[in-house]
Amino acid sequence: MVKSNLEANIKEAADQFALVVVNAVKSATLQELIALQSEAVSASRAKAGRRLRKKPGPKPGRKPGHKAAVKSALKPAKKKRIVKNYPKCAYPGCNKNRFPRGKGYCGDHWRAWTAGKIKAASAYKK
Ligand SMILES: [Zn+2]
Repeated sequence: MVKSNLEANIKEAADQFALVVVNAVKSATLQELIALQSEAVSASRAKAGRRLRKKPGPKPGRKPGHKAAVKSALKPAKKKRIVKNYPKCAYPGCNKNRFPRGKGYCGDHWRAWTAGKIKAASAYKK
């Protein structure tokens, strides 16, 4: 008995689909993948933000050194995903992202701190 054409076609289509997806990801640069993700993130955040911003008072989840921070420190290396809410510089009024070795500061303020111009980041935390 001849194997049905339908089965063969479906198999072929499935293989091709998989190939297309793999090739699309392969040919995309890391930049593109990151951009794709951060676009989705900022879109969803914009939606959530509109609702949240109506409430006065401090932003939620912003207290340094509280439970969530301790938790994430306890289990490192599990999350390899792109950071959505990158922590900001600890210096008051500075909105830049902090950088990994910056002790809570952005590049500029970290340099200012190492030069002794400002206090340690922990001095500004409440
Ligand atoms: Zn800064």
